[in-house]
Amino acid sequence: MNRTVTPVAVSCHFCNESQITPSETMSVMVNKTDYTFTYAFTCIYCDEVVCKPLHDHCYQILRPITPTYYLDVPAEMLEEHSGPPISHDDVLEFHRQVWSLA
Ligand SMILES: [Zn+2]
Repeated sequence: MNRTVTPVAVSCHFCNESQITPSETMSVMVNKTDYTFTYAFTCIYCDEVVCKPLHDHCYQILRPITPTYYLDVPAEMLEEHSGPPISHDDVLEFHRQVWSLA
């Protein structure tokens, strides 16, 4: 399928730079569980992969010009979580406990 390449203005939340990205280098993801949308691109300044929520009306614009992926989200992502985020210390402690069992 030939897709028209359209320049899209995006901004990176890692380095705060704005850029024009060809639509074919972006990705749109559709969560098949709740039909929410996200888009992703790789920042040309810091090389980070930026992933942001995509509003419905923007999805309608990007969908025909951007590769789109329909995702089955693992059930764990839909669980409600509480407590503080996992820290590096938590990961190190988990690693220590797992290897002490070996
Ligand atoms: Zn960046």
